[in-house]
Amino acid sequence: MSVLPEVIAANAEYAASFGDRSELALPPARGFAVLTCMDARLDPAKYAGLSEGDAHVIRNAGGRASDDAIRSLVISYKLLGTKEWFVIHHSDCGMEFFTDEVIRGLLANSLETAALGDQGFYDVGTGPGAREGDYIDWLTISDQATSVTEDVRRIRNHPLVPARIPIYGYIYDVKSGLLLEVPTATEVGRAA
Ligand SMILES: [Zn+2]
Repeated sequence: MSVLPEVIAANAEYAASFGDRSELALPPARGFAVLTCMDARLDPAKYAGLSEGDAHVIRNAGGRASDDAIRSLVISYKLLGTKEWFVIHHSDCGMEFFTDEVIRGLLANSLETAALGDQGFYDVGTGPGAREGDYIDWLTISDQATSVTEDVRRIRNHPLVPARIPIYGYIYDVKSGLLLEVPTATEVGRAA
């Protein structure tokens, strides 16, 4: 069973009470952007108190400062005027449970979904797989505070990012819903 009918029905309900959201401006009203993980347990609108039109939310696996995340951040300030940025990783992130070697090996074996056990991900599917995963940097994580600090540093040092934008580094705790500051990241991300 596909989720498609449920999603279309939920959207019809949402649009039925759309109201003055049709008048929202394109630039984010509260002038900030959040880079965070795609993890389904994280809802940035809820954990950071956002309404439609408030802020940019850029999501990928891990909330990592990939070239494409930086592309979005640059558009966010250069064309749409954001002035403060957050990098928010989280506890129990799936990106901690594998390495480049592991996902490359899994994909080379099989394109079917792997299983996660005590020893990490393992294949339960059948082949053929493909070796194209060898060419992707999967940006896995071994320590959250380190990954947040590395990503804030990469954004801070990027030649297209102005020194006046403060970049805050936080870890979202999936057990409490709290945002925990990563002081080393905030230090690195301080505006000049
Ligand atoms: Zn995650």
